[in-house]
Amino acid sequence: MAPSGSRSVKRGCWRVLYWIPVLFIALIVAWSYYAYVLQLCIESIEDTAEKVVYLLVYHVVFILFVWAYWQTIFTKPMNPLKEFHLSHSDKELLEREDRGESQQEILRRIAKDLPIYTRTNSGAIRFCDRCQLLKPDRCHHCSVCDKCILKMDHHCPWVNNCVGFSNYKCFMLFLAYSLLYCLFITATDLQYFIKFWTKGLPDTQAKFHILFLFFSASMFSVSLASLFIYHCWLVCKNRSTLEAVRAPMFRHGTDKSGFSLGFSKNFRQVFGDEVKYWPIPVFSSLGDGCSFPTCLVNLDPEQPSSPTGSNLASKSAAEGRQFPSKPLRESQSRLLTSTPSWSENDSATDKDKKGASNPGVTIENEA
Ligand SMILES: [Zn+2]
Ligand SMILES: [Zn+2]
Repeated sequence: MAPSGSRSVKRGCWRVLYWIPVLFIALIVAWSYYAYVLQLCIESIEDTAEKVVYLLVYHVVFILFVWAYWQTIFTKPMNPLKEFHLSHSDKELLEREDRGESQQEILRRIAKDLPIYTRTNSGAIRFCDRCQLLKPDRCHHCSVCDKCILKMDHHCPWVNNCVGFSNYKCFMLFLAYSLLYCLFITATDLQYFIKFWTKGLPDTQAKFHILFLFFSASMFSVSLASLFIYHCWLVCKNRSTLEAVRAPMFRHGTDKSGFSLGFSKNFRQVFGDEVKYWPIPVFSSLGDGCSFPTCLVNLDPEQPSSPTGSNLASKSAAEGRQFPSKPLRESQSRLLTSTPSWSENDSATDKDKKGASNPGVTIENEA
């Protein structure tokens, strides 16, 4: 067999193996459904009112949890727009240059027309050799997906997908609802778990389901709670997991809070402007994933002075170019310019309004 053939067979095998953790979770969830609904509620609970309430609440949480999990697994990660890909002539030009510095010169020229503010640690333009593109801010190449992923957070084996711009909100809801699911099971199963040890349960196989249901739900609750709290902190700070490990590098240096706009705007960047969509696992994040409002752009003399869509659009129009082909959404510009439509009464409000009155200048000082 040709080497390329064996490579594709190997890759195919890996693709199948990557689904094992997802299958494992699916089997546990299916068993938990059987154990809770049939063995606990229908077989063991005698009080009808209690049975009905438990079953109703359980099914609401179960549907939300499975929906969020499904969306996290099957939402395709978004890749950079075509403006970030090298044109045919630029590719040829880059290939002809063998010196790193001359290649950087070419990349710098291309990057000038793009809303790119971050650099590599050595200050060079972030370029993906494999995808042949200039990496947008917060975009990283995933070695498992073999693609550049917009606002990549991490590659999650439990969903066999990259968690990034397109599905981060669904991933957050998946964590929230799976935690709620486990906490609900733990809380309602507790009294029957105690009855197991005090010999208060009839001697059927249901009692062992009740026992293991309590153990597994409480153990998953602990690990999910720590992960959920960590990601809540990341959302508040507007950082991805990768950025929490290594702060993004701007032209003036690294800045771990470079993309932070204050709590409420950071939250709305992930969950969107409309409150009714917040608890639903559908995409409602703000922006296009290729560029992000940052309060630090004025410190970058080589880039457009404002990250808002109107400036980029007018700059492109002046040069007769078609960038952005998909202009930054109005919603993203609003992140920097307007006050939110929903009422806020936390301390973040004043801080945000201060930032909004003078976009592109104020630098948030976050701990
Ligand atoms: Zn790439
Ligand atoms: Zn990936």
